Amino acid sequence: MRRVPVLTILLSSFLWPFEPATGADGSLQQEPLPTVVVLSTGGTIASTRSSEEEGYQSNLFGEQLVAAVPGLDEIAIIEVQNVANVGSTNMTPALWLEVSRRANAALEREEVAGVLVTHGTDTMEETAYFLDLTVINQKPTIMVGAMRAASEWDADGPRNLLNSARVAVSEEARGKGNLVVLNGEIHAAREVTKTHSLAVETFDTPEFGALGIVDADGVRFYRAPLRRQSIPMTDDVILPIVDIIPNYAGSDGRLIRGLLKEGPVDGLVVDASGAGNIAGALFEAVKEAREAGIAVVITSRTHGGRVLPLYAGGGGGTTLHDLGCVFADNLSAQKARVLLIAALTRTRDPEELRVFFGW
Ligand code: ASP
Repeated sequence: MRRVPVLTILLSSFLWPFEPATGADGSLQQEPLPTVVVLSTGGTIASTRSSEEEGYQSNLFGEQLVAAVPGLDEIAIIEVQNVANVGSTNMTPALWLEVSRRANAALEREEVAGVLVTHGTDTMEETAYFLDLTVINQKPTIMVGAMRAASEWDADGPRNLLNSARVAVSEEARGKGNLVVLNGEIHAAREVTKTHSLAVETFDTPEFGALGIVDADGVRFYRAPLRRQSIPMTDDVILPIVDIIPNYAGSDGRLIRGLLKEGPVDGLVVDASGAGNIAGALFEAVKEAREAGIAVVITSRTHGGRVLPLYAGGGGGTTLHDLGCVFADNLSAQKARVLLIAALTRTRDPEELRVFFGW
């Protein structure tokens, strides 16, 4: 916070033993700035185009993003690592793992206050949740991106980067895991989602709201994420393959049968309807997947509320539960996939998987 309350000024003039530290020559000793590590991965925040006819390309390096932000060097010593330069539709679980390893390594260093991950917004929420599960440190990792490319006159990336650095060095951000910081809002990784294809106010936590805000005056949290868990990854981990299958009127199970034939597949997230129900014909294919030993997690395409085994009949939630399908609480299909990928590194047993999904 930049504002100094009058009471603080009055009190400080009486608290003479706690004067700022001075050096041997009597000069004022400045507190060293914390270090913030920027892991650059690409996205619109790193994209440019030179004419209106051209498509945007992710082609700027982290150093260029940082150099475009006046005042960043007053918040922290910035250290850049270029991890990738891809639009986030080309993010992969292997890249999540690389970012997670680098974030864990950086945060172990005493002088590092936090890690910023510059990233495309399209799949930002997936990387955010993977890092939330696998970066094991009280210090924050923060996702930052932009909806307007770096070459636009009104690019939003520089301000988002400045704000994310403010959050990275904030004491209040500790213990809250991975945070998504765009448009002056701070969101929790587990619940945040991209809600608009173009607007700068695209990130939202529809059911529960943002955790806090950040602006030139500082960082202010109003709530904390309570449903966090840690699933650390080993250096030699091989991430399982998990796909998402949607349910819709007339779903007939061909997608699942195709996957079973093509393989490999370790797990499926079935994005069901309502409280967690699917078409009878799709249910038959889910049964085949379960018989083949594939883990199946159920989410809902409603974008709000929990899934529960409530209905009977082939494809009703109770029949899916009886097959050993795991209900994913209120996670979206893409977040449930991230959690299933991480949890399958530990177990395939439905009862044990249910614990990871809070059931
Ligand atoms: N296509 C971009 C991406 O990398 C969109 C963005 O960054 O806003 O996700």
